[in-house]
Amino acid sequence: AAKANGRNCLKVFDPDDPQHGDESENIAAILRIALEQRLVSLVYQPIRNVQTGALDGAEALMRMKMPDGTSIMPGTFIPVAERTGAIIELGRWAIRTVCKEMLATNKVKVASVNVSPSELKMPGFSTYVAATLAEYGLVGTRLAFEITEGVELDVDTDVVRCISELKRLGVQIWLDDFGTGFAGLSWLRMIDFDTVKIDRSFLHDCETERGRRMMRDIISLLRHRGLRILVEGVETEEQETLMRQYGIEQIQGYHVGRPEPARRFGNLGWLPSPAAAGLSSA
Ligand code: C2E
Ligand code: MG
Ligand code: MG
Ligand code: MG
Repeated sequence: AAKANGRNCLKVFDPDDPQHGDESENIAAILRIALEQRLVSLVYQPIRNVQTGALDGAEALMRMKMPDGTSIMPGTFIPVAERTGAIIELGRWAIRTVCKEMLATNKVKVASVNVSPSELKMPGFSTYVAATLAEYGLVGTRLAFEITEGVELDVDTDVVRCISELKRLGVQIWLDDFGTGFAGLSWLRMIDFDTVKIDRSFLHDCETERGRRMMRDIISLLRHRGLRILVEGVETEEQETLMRQYGIEQIQGYHVGRPEPARRFGNLGWLPSPAAAGLSSA
């Protein structure tokens, strides 16, 4: 049985589990057809440097179109894709698409892609990333992966190896939704994150003095660990000002910009040095 296969075994493919039978296979097939028929797309939410006002990058967020033109949000289909294993194909498509439509076209300097635990555990993930970067002549530092604290991820040797392979390519690793799970502090010990994204719930708590004190404590913890800090869910000018006062580097949220298709982003008019193109940072 799949369970006996050990560390490379994905729970999602377990045929012994009665919940994951034919129906999951159908949904996986539907997701595959959706990919082929271009019903899946990416939108990008800008990341602003709150100290300089510059566009520092963008986060890719997946959307799926229904035949009637309405969109299904990732909160609905990503868990299904994870359960069925379709996330592997969707994830690879997302990485490739980000490289092609945002990085190779110089729409942003850095773009981040959300990854699911099963992608990090899949053998060959970092090889795929390296090949895709090379295909588009990109340095690894322009790509970031967001790992959410909101999911169960067993940081075993496979995950640690995968992350260190990615870091060797120069690829950035960001911790997403910090403060929402139980793993954050232990992950900070095990994984060499470049950026920590503080979950928007902490920002919303900043309406009270108690909440602001909590935010300052989190910032000082992350600061002492030398991590870059991004605050998610900035919806007002007041929140942006507060984050600037707190010395946060980056913000993201509806106040900065809503997620938009790549074509809505202008070209930066900025090119990486040709000498650096295609080389991984040593
Ligand atoms: P996330 O990575 O934490 O993404 C942030 C979510 O917050 C996005 O929802 C975004 O649209 C929303 N958001 C951004 N600014 C604001 C704001 O100011 N206020 C509020 N209330 N919300 C804001 P979205 O696009 O529905 O994505 C939900 C989650 O689905 C993401 O959370 C991420 O965990 C997951 N996801 C999205 N795309 C992918 C993907 O390609 N692969 C994987 N594995 N997961 C994905
Ligand atoms: Mg994210
Ligand atoms: Mg997030
Ligand atoms: Mg989130």
